[in-house]
Amino acid sequence: MTTTPFPSGTILGYPRIGPRRELKQAVEAFWAGSITAAELEQRAAELRAATRGRLAALGLGREDAAIPESFSFYDQVLDAAVTVGAVPSRFGHLVAEDGSLDLAGYFTLARGAGDNLPLEMTKWFDSNYHYLVPEIGPETEFRLAGDRLVREFEEAKAAGYLTRPVIVGPVTFLLLAKASDEAPAGFEPLSRLDDLLPVYAELLARLHAAGATWVQLDEPALVNESIPVSRPEQLTALAEAYRVLGAETNRPALFVAAPYGALGDALPVLAASAVEAIGLDLVRGTLPSGLDPETAAALATKTVVAGVIDGHNIWRGDLAAALDVATAVTALSPTVSVSSSTSLLHLPHDAREETKLGQLGNWLAFADQKVGQIVTVAEGLRGGRAAVSAELDAAAAALAERLAAPGVRDAAVRERAAALSAADYDRGDYAERVAAQEAAIDLPLLPTTTIGSFPQTSDIRRARARLNSGVLSSTEYEALMKEEIGRVIALQEQIGLDVLVHGEPERNDMVQYFAENLDGFAVTEHGWVQSYGSRCTRPSLLWGDVSRPAPITLDWAVYAQSLTAKPVKGMLTGPVTILAWSFVRDDQPLGETATQLALALRDEIAELEGAGIGIIQVDEPALRELLPLKRADHAAYLDWSVDSFRLATAGVRPETQIHTHLCYSEFGEVIDAIGRLDADVTSVEAARSRMEIVDDIASSGFDHGIGPGVYDIHSPRVPGVAEMTQLLERALQAVPGRRLWVNPDCGLKTRGYQETVESLQNMLGATRAVRATT
Ligand code: GLN
Ligand code: ZN
Repeated sequence: MTTTPFPSGTILGYPRIGPRRELKQAVEAFWAGSITAAELEQRAAELRAATRGRLAALGLGREDAAIPESFSFYDQVLDAAVTVGAVPSRFGHLVAEDGSLDLAGYFTLARGAGDNLPLEMTKWFDSNYHYLVPEIGPETEFRLAGDRLVREFEEAKAAGYLTRPVIVGPVTFLLLAKASDEAPAGFEPLSRLDDLLPVYAELLARLHAAGATWVQLDEPALVNESIPVSRPEQLTALAEAYRVLGAETNRPALFVAAPYGALGDALPVLAASAVEAIGLDLVRGTLPSGLDPETAAALATKTVVAGVIDGHNIWRGDLAAALDVATAVTALSPTVSVSSSTSLLHLPHDAREETKLGQLGNWLAFADQKVGQIVTVAEGLRGGRAAVSAELDAAAAALAERLAAPGVRDAAVRERAAALSAADYDRGDYAERVAAQEAAIDLPLLPTTTIGSFPQTSDIRRARARLNSGVLSSTEYEALMKEEIGRVIALQEQIGLDVLVHGEPERNDMVQYFAENLDGFAVTEHGWVQSYGSRCTRPSLLWGDVSRPAPITLDWAVYAQSLTAKPVKGMLTGPVTILAWSFVRDDQPLGETATQLALALRDEIAELEGAGIGIIQVDEPALRELLPLKRADHAAYLDWSVDSFRLATAGVRPETQIHTHLCYSEFGEVIDAIGRLDADVTSVEAARSRMEIVDDIASSGFDHGIGPGVYDIHSPRVPGVAEMTQLLERALQAVPGRRLWVNPDCGLKTRGYQETVESLQNMLGATRAVRATT
């Protein structure tokens, strides 16, 4: 086969959601039945056309295959699954004779229907994007069941663009999959590689026949050391996959991308394979060095696609440094192309849309600006630094302005952080705290509580929208929120809960709310990024040193406590979670930023305590999420993340009870860290895994209070008393009653009131039943 050169600059993928979340609106309209499948297809096609047009205008249109075809209606891993016919048997009735699914069927896999649970959703590497987990078993019949990728390529071609189709590679697809319900114990999806490869080969042949010159296969699983399959097995599979696909003659040239980290020992395997281009993440990873002679020689025959522009953060950054890295890559191969380190899916579309950020706006690069940067670096690589000196200088000036801007470094914040000592991180003896808390807080055996939020009704959201548009004054808004808090407190008393919450009605989001009230953060108007499916988040921008100009939660908590004799929990979001769900500064280690956040929260906690709030919860649902992909980096991460929690919470008296909430059930690698947080009570998601987690926690030596969730809040289903009684009894086998708390899996903000009230009443019913027998 003859190979068209790889384009000199490209991106690994582009945001799909649309500059004004057009895809979200269209998909949700389809779900609501207000538009037809044909209308949804039409709107998606318009969005794809607009994307190609925009990318061409930004400079990716000059070379063939520079524009990636990376659209998805919901998720790229789900797309790969339906492309290869991997539909779990419980959805078999949705599959047509030829193996295909219509749009409604496709969304059913993502969202479930009735008793048929959707595919499990989990985090995509160390990003805040979530993918759907394919289910593979011996019974999975792989076949080319979807030709969407081919049709989208043809659609582009008809519009005059020769694009580059993107699909999750076969090895990553299987490594991210889990065993199907039918699979025997110990079954590994990767064992089906030989059966899967012919389907990929057929797809490649179809794309080749349609005129595609290059195809991108994403293999990020190779950079992730947390995948349970052994490394030698992974590498054997990688070699086999690209031996088989490479040997096909009717195929486009293959570009294998490995975003999110360094390939390590997978690089020699790919270099030895028949693929024509290899993509390296040179933002997370470093330039490979010390390669053995064969690998070096093999790599020199390929295009190395240098991921030098960060696809994962929003900073304009140091463009000259990126050009230096790209230039250094020419030592590996004479053919170097410039790209983003990851897909730009993690970024909002266009920083020029943010008109209210002032100077900060000049420091930012969203997806469109990153494309411009790639085009610049590619030009610099070809034509020399001088050819792009104006752009490099402008970026350098913006960076210098940023680093010197007021607020980026705040002397008072830095002095305080520098003066910390070990005692600031230590709450003292746990047994003494237990005794002090038992004396100070009157609680029954198996105390009941919730995780914090109560349903965010449309009235609440409307009130906030009216506040933001100036229709409501802040006094009127506060009065409405206080009414809501009053209702939530009365309801909890009526249900009989022991530790109450104020319900968080005033929070638009558990991170953005704090970002809006802390110095060092800015919020965007249009900076939406896809979290999963049609769900988007608008991360705040953490650009400077963090401090707390005024109390944040104090008035709300005090007001709630004034309404009841029962204890009301103060409710804060922890440093790691605030970092994980914001765009963070890149000019200092994350741990330093975490310390600043911890100090701000520590002051808030001190004021809550001073105002008589005796129980304070600091949520860290993202603790597991930020865990680095490389094992060697785990210890350092867990040290600073645990420290930040301890620093935030260790200032309180022994009788003040600190709670935390973690909302994932896969603890494995962070289980020791949970103990090191030294919270008095930890609530965790547990209902969906039928309390399995309590055994892991118990055997880890954890001996503080624990509240394993007794019901799943992700669905409107109301669990019965018997079901929750059983779960509590199950928990009591591993945890002594005096340490066991009773609560749902997570906050209730996405639920409706009716199901919430019924579920909580049943939760109390189960608790009473178990108390009576314990
Ligand atoms: N306190 C938060 C709430 O209840 C916790 C949310 C979370 O864990 N994601 O909404
Ligand atoms: Zn949670």
